[in-house]
Amino acid sequence: MSLLVVGSVAFDAVETPHGKVDRMIGGAATYFSVAASFFTHVNLVGVVGEDFTASEEAIFKGRRIDIAGLERAQGKSFFWAGRYGIDPNDRVTLATELNVFATFRPKLPDKFRKPSHVFLANIDPTLQHSVLEQLSSRPKVVALDTMNYWIEGTPAELRKILKRTDVLMVNDAEARMLSNEHNLLRAARHIFSLGPRTLIIKRGEHGALMVDSKGVFSVPALLLEEVHDPTGAGDSFGGGFMGYLASASSLTDAVLRRAMVYGSVMGSFAVERFGLERLRHLTRREINARARHFAKMTQFKL
Ligand code: AMP
Repeated sequence: MSLLVVGSVAFDAVETPHGKVDRMIGGAATYFSVAASFFTHVNLVGVVGEDFTASEEAIFKGRRIDIAGLERAQGKSFFWAGRYGIDPNDRVTLATELNVFATFRPKLPDKFRKPSHVFLANIDPTLQHSVLEQLSSRPKVVALDTMNYWIEGTPAELRKILKRTDVLMVNDAEARMLSNEHNLLRAARHIFSLGPRTLIIKRGEHGALMVDSKGVFSVPALLLEEVHDPTGAGDSFGGGFMGYLASASSLTDAVLRRAMVYGSVMGSFAVERFGLERLRHLTRREINARARHFAKMTQFKL
């Protein structure tokens, strides 16, 4: 089993009611791979600029993350700035500077071409497609994240990649926008007709929903005393979900449900500190303890 991710490796500037950081390592593929590496080996494909030094690269060291697919290009790394209000779901993007990402064409090292699981993080659907084109065999699971920018801006390209997607991970607004349906069950049905057989709706502090042919499975978010920085929660969820799936030997409903819980566990840790600070110091023991906490939190008898 091996897990391939393609997505942004970035510098972020983040402002929340708990503080402000002008520059720290971020990016969807960074959060995803650090979270997933607690469960399985991860192969990362992305691009950084000359400003990405050994001290930033250290986040990947000592983990099961192979960065042979992390290209170094001339120029500056992708930069994103955002601000959150008291409601952690309420995010304003202040800046998106593509920099080296603007001309990025993913090139998969040969050893990355036969993954069992693939996560196409939120990037241009054309680039997501080019990654699948470079694979030499069909993966067991292809999961995809996208956003309003691509849903509105490149609908034809997005539809093309959705046909090859098994699991779509989006938030509720994106599911509604993609399907033109307000009701989430109707939205799911529409999305299934586009290709995916599983829809995961990330709802921030309201948890996450999984919809597939078997029905709906819902995981609440953990009530935390302090959410310092919601950035990366969605990608850490993706990392926990896909990392667990790749570590499991089958793809049953029970496995998918546990993956939802491990996704929620990783998302809950990510938001406790700024940037990757909490994930950086996390242990497998803490992950297991929090998964048990989720089980206890949702248990009831009839
Ligand atoms: P999340 O909070 O999980 O949705 O993702 C936050 C991460 O996504 C940040 O670390 C950003 O660097 C990265 N990001 C934000 N906008 C984009 C974009 N348009 N394309 C790729 N990555 C992005």
